[in-house]
Amino acid sequence: MTSLTFYGGVKEIGGNKILLEDRDTKIFLDFGMNFTQHANYFTEYMPPRKCTCIRDLIKLKLLPDIKGIYREDYCKHMKLKDTKDNSIDGVLVSHAHIDHIGYIHFLRKDIPIHVSKETKAIMELFTQTGAGGFNEYTQINPSFQLIPKKNGDGLKRRDARDGFEERDVRVFTFEKKFRIGDLEVVPYRVDHSLPGAAGFVIYTSEGSLVYTGDLRFHGRHKGWSYNFVQKAAEGKPEIMLSEGTRIRETGTKTEEYVQEQSAKEIKNKKGLAIVNFPIRDTDRLLTFYNTALSNNRKLIIEVRQAILLDFLHNAGVQELPKTDDRTIKIF
Ligand SMILES: [Zn+2]
Repeated sequence: MTSLTFYGGVKEIGGNKILLEDRDTKIFLDFGMNFTQHANYFTEYMPPRKCTCIRDLIKLKLLPDIKGIYREDYCKHMKLKDTKDNSIDGVLVSHAHIDHIGYIHFLRKDIPIHVSKETKAIMELFTQTGAGGFNEYTQINPSFQLIPKKNGDGLKRRDARDGFEERDVRVFTFEKKFRIGDLEVVPYRVDHSLPGAAGFVIYTSEGSLVYTGDLRFHGRHKGWSYNFVQKAAEGKPEIMLSEGTRIRETGTKTEEYVQEQSAKEIKNKKGLAIVNFPIRDTDRLLTFYNTALSNNRKLIIEVRQAILLDFLHNAGVQELPKTDDRTIKIF
């Protein structure tokens, strides 16, 4: 039997945590944080208590109450009797926005996380540079552990300097079928505001299922989304799971329109021009880069954006400017 259980993402924006079970296989489609619900209890200066976080987050219904999926160091510390016996077979990640990956930190490190190579690069960036204590997407630094001191004189609490342990992160190739247990999955590129976003056609024992992740049809790569629509239709899906944040909106402005308008605004003005956009919206970054270039100006980006550009270049994303580009300056 095939079943779907929604632990987030229904009648809310993001926070997708969808459990798909088929025969002996169990996977999550994304494992994200719902910003609104999370913000009901926590804020930047008041994050979850690390010592009891899994219990707190389950109690607050932010994390699903499922045995066997949470990381051993936390469970052991909280004396939660948990074993990997009924763990899951993997998480299929659509893209690296926090509302789709935000709670991966809490999962066991041996649960395979299936991602595109661009998504892996962004998750590595979060792991290495993320502020706060819950950003271990590709590696974990086991907590609450006592290890022998280097000089052999007693024990010390393990910390980041003692090294990280790798998570089981597996990179898929777009349009290439792969298996997770009894399921067959084909990932397709879709257009979104950051690189590496995927939609999936998943073949179960009771027909195929389409999971769109977040996609759009007005960005620079709308062709990817249309290709996915076509391939998904060819898969003759029984069910399609899609976000409907803007499902009733008709007509929307394209990225080209934003670029034209911003270039026009800046053209005959002197002095500093300030633009505001989400830090990881690399599509918009490219828009303002082009605007700066065509107006003989410099685009000043912040350090975190510069590091993101470097990570994405290393992951093979060619279309974005390099940080040593003459039009780019780092603040
Ligand atoms: Zn998104």
